[in-house]
Amino acid sequence: SPIIVWIRRDLRLSDHAALHAASATGRPVIPVFIRDALVDGLGAAPKWRLGLGVDHFAKSLAAKGSRLILRSGPAVDVLTALVRDTGAAGVYWMRAYDPGSVDRDTKVKAALKDLGVEAQSFAGNLLFEPWSVQTKQGGFYKVYTPFWRAARTHDVPAPLPAPKTLPAPQSWPQGEALEDWHLGRQMRRGAAVVLPYVQLGEQAAQGRLGAFVASKVADYADQRNLPGVDGTSCLSENLSLGEISPAQCWHAGRRAMEEGKQGAETFLKELAWREFAYHLMWHSPHILTSNWREEWQAFPWNEDERLAEVKAWKQARTGIRFVDAGLREMYVTGRMHNRVRMIVGSYLTKHLLCHWKIGQAWFEECLIDWDPAANAMGWQWVAGSGPDASPYFRVFNPVTQREKFDPDRAYVDRWIAEGRKSPSAEALSYFDAIPQRWGMSAANPYPDPVVAVDEGRKRALSAYENKGF
Ligand code: FAD
Repeated sequence: SPIIVWIRRDLRLSDHAALHAASATGRPVIPVFIRDALVDGLGAAPKWRLGLGVDHFAKSLAAKGSRLILRSGPAVDVLTALVRDTGAAGVYWMRAYDPGSVDRDTKVKAALKDLGVEAQSFAGNLLFEPWSVQTKQGGFYKVYTPFWRAARTHDVPAPLPAPKTLPAPQSWPQGEALEDWHLGRQMRRGAAVVLPYVQLGEQAAQGRLGAFVASKVADYADQRNLPGVDGTSCLSENLSLGEISPAQCWHAGRRAMEEGKQGAETFLKELAWREFAYHLMWHSPHILTSNWREEWQAFPWNEDERLAEVKAWKQARTGIRFVDAGLREMYVTGRMHNRVRMIVGSYLTKHLLCHWKIGQAWFEECLIDWDPAANAMGWQWVAGSGPDASPYFRVFNPVTQREKFDPDRAYVDRWIAEGRKSPSAEALSYFDAIPQRWGMSAANPYPDPVVAVDEGRKRALSAYENKGF
């Protein structure tokens, strides 16, 4: 009897403990991907990107003589039915850590055990399990630096190779067709605009990692803050779907460090930020949905999406170039430079006094590297409501930030077309991507600020002081 490997956001063959263990049993292996409520609930861009990833992964399995069976419905129903149909002896999967997945997986495990089937979950989508790092008092870390001190000494097992064989069952269970799922339906700007920026699958991800450690890591510590420079790994897109494992990135970083490459430790620290986000989400899942610090419930956030300022922010016409450049980069490429994520977030939550949840949701709609833990932590950090957050009174000035981090305007010129004699192709592509009803044109003059930098800062600080924070 076969082993079912339930594939989720772990679209890789190498360093995949569940596939590895299934292969090691010597039994036939049936990989299955399930379109359940968690998939249906994704934002437009992550769902579209997931569809591309699943298609690509199915082809990688096919190249090994295996298949990816697609089914839709509640995971517990799909898996119990599959076990009955195939007579499977076990179901294996890689652990996920967001509360929705944990809840679902707990139910699946119980139902499978009731059927007398082996149900096994494996570690490997994180460097280490979120419960395995503890403070001296036995609690979880709420501050990054001590977390990093603990993390850096943690033993990260060497990545596993891809399974040598994935024996096929005598007959494959029926599956659905990916096209029928229409995972790209909400992604109207999809194929034409964002696709050229996508790097799909395990091999591309390994290529990115290789190129990063070969040529970018040495200057990473300095260059990672400059959005006009291609100085970061861009691996978040692949990490978010598990097309590469964090352990593979970690060990490549460690090797680079041993070779004396300057920025390697900073890279490891960034991987640890991802880990910290998961650590926080695991121990305090409300970070996804409400102010992590209770006292922020009293803050007078605007939560009305219809507000003119919110529209201007989403449509990237706030009149602040660094902010608009970032939002346009995200709309066109499905990603945004980390420095600029902080700037657009600060402008929304401080200058515009809007709830960070509005920004969190818009990022979830637009990012191809969307990650529940990193996105929530990022927004609460920017807003000041999260653990180890930037204090609310530290309002980023998007003009001086631009002068500091984009001194030659390479970034804003790449993304802002208005007022330029010969705008870049990227800047123009934004206008091809957006809906006509937004009424924007590259030929228009660049808009005035919806809220001026100084005025917004004063308003934010007085709202903060009035609340007696
Ligand atoms: P690199 O600089 O090459 O870093 C390597 C890896 O480290 C990244 O791929 C990522 O996995 C991890 N990492 C780096 N910085 C962070 C960070 N601050 N927090 C957590 N992990 C980090 N990242 C996402 O992956 N998905 C999101 O949805 C997301 N939303 C964000 C929202 C806000 C408001 C902010 C401020 C940050 C957000 N980040 C998110 C974190 C960060 O911006 C991206 O991980 C980074 O820009 C990805 O680019 P890169 O792969 O080139 O990173």
